[in-house]
Amino acid sequence: ALAATPTSGDQARGAPPHLIFIPSAGMGHIHPFSRFIAALASQGAVDISVVIALPTVSEAEADHFTALFAAFPAIRRIDFNLLPLDDATLAGTDPFLLRWESLRRSAHLLGPLIAGAAPRASAIVTDITLASQVIPVAKNELRLPCHILFISCATMMSFLAYFPTYVDGANTDHLAGDVDVPGIGHLPVDYPPQVLRDPDNLFTKQFISNGREIAEADGILLNTFDALEPEALAALRDGKVVSGFPPVFAVGPLKSTSTEKEAVHGGASSPIAWLDEQPARSVVYVAFGNRNAAALEQIHEIGAGLEASGCRFLWVVKTTVVDREDTAELNDVLDDGFLGRVHGRGLVIKEWVDQEAVLRHPAVGLYVSHCGWNSVTESAACGVPMLAWPMTLGDQRLVATVIRSAGFGLWLEHWSWDRESSLVRAAEIAEKVKAVMGEEAISARAKEVGREATKAVAPGGSSHRSMQEFLATLK
Ligand code: UDP
Ligand code: UDP
Repeated sequence: ALAATPTSGDQARGAPPHLIFIPSAGMGHIHPFSRFIAALASQGAVDISVVIALPTVSEAEADHFTALFAAFPAIRRIDFNLLPLDDATLAGTDPFLLRWESLRRSAHLLGPLIAGAAPRASAIVTDITLASQVIPVAKNELRLPCHILFISCATMMSFLAYFPTYVDGANTDHLAGDVDVPGIGHLPVDYPPQVLRDPDNLFTKQFISNGREIAEADGILLNTFDALEPEALAALRDGKVVSGFPPVFAVGPLKSTSTEKEAVHGGASSPIAWLDEQPARSVVYVAFGNRNAAALEQIHEIGAGLEASGCRFLWVVKTTVVDREDTAELNDVLDDGFLGRVHGRGLVIKEWVDQEAVLRHPAVGLYVSHCGWNSVTESAACGVPMLAWPMTLGDQRLVATVIRSAGFGLWLEHWSWDRESSLVRAAEIAEKVKAVMGEEAISARAKEVGREATKAVAPGGSSHRSMQEFLATLK
């Protein structure tokens, strides 16, 4: 094969390294990529290309990429037309999972696409969902180093890397019991992504196959920092989780970019002006991620709980998985008269908000969250205490363990999202919201975590140094 090598002529002449990014789908996956890309682009030390799979899944993603390329004209865009996914067995699959599968099945087309990139590529950075397909293309076909930019915490990375060893040892093909991850500890069966209990789920198959390949990566970039997850990072680096694990670069918390703000449409729904009028640390921010549609009954309980708490609140309500399909009006999903009753002290919105700007706002005193890792790192960076209400399907309960061990929030393990059987009632929501709002120890710890985050990314800090070390591998 006519393989590009990392020591190609361009670099011998001192040209900057050329990084090719291959992101996946879902805003939770795309945000860390664009944040990392923007951080590199503003330093100007590397040439950057981004592979864009077409068509994009959600409106938010399409807008997001448009804004990224507009803000950084030097970044090259490589369009990647996916093969059609004609597979009746996949009918009804989550649209984002389907997109990952589609990217995976088209991955063999990436070889020629990247081999043709100019200047010659120096390394590839891809998403974990594509690891088992992209790493072999990078290494065997293109002879390029391949790094994974992981979108979750170091604790989740440890679990993911260890999971193949667990299934092999337990002679199973799915999550069948508690898991002891060396260097991390005992994880009860209901902590890891619950979808892994289903051996036939596409996610389970992708997860195991990506986990098997991860040790072949040349480096793992993590959106975390040493002070936030000291044990998990040490376990990975010391080879306790998996021996011979690739170098780990903890470069977080990644900062949001100005392009994200541009991607937020219209100022009409912006909550910032409203927040400006609220007293310091008085507002509970309630949001459950970009694609977690709650059951209507649970939405009603949340509304009643916020009302009963007596606290001011900013609540982002989502009722569909893909934003393009969201046609419901707020009045259709909230109780009759709710908006009138909370007028002035509660703001409810359905549109995309600039979440980092919200969390950074001095009026915000608590974040009730589904525990998406991006959201948690944003809250940590802004020093905002959390009330963790993790989803069970994905990584969110493992993420909640990080909030708990770092001490900047409360996680009530019995709070679930599993529909009617286990609705969390309004009275309990009201009580816990009030309790955490008044908990001095948690808010003091949150402020400290915020200071540690700032220190980590400043020159001389652990994440800053990790970033330099990563860049040095590209030379
Ligand atoms: N986000 C946002 N505005 C919204 C909803 C989400 O800015 O209205 C951002 C949020 O700040 C975070 C990302 O979208 O960076 C969501 O990622 P996360 O990992 O927290 O959860 P996910 O939505 O992927 O489950
Ligand atoms: N994930 C993984 N391997 C895979 C696919 C996903 O480790 O093959 C991780 C992913 O990084 C995330 C978690 O599994 O931490 C759940 O993924 P998903 O994007 O569904 O979660 P969400 O966006 O809902 O947070």
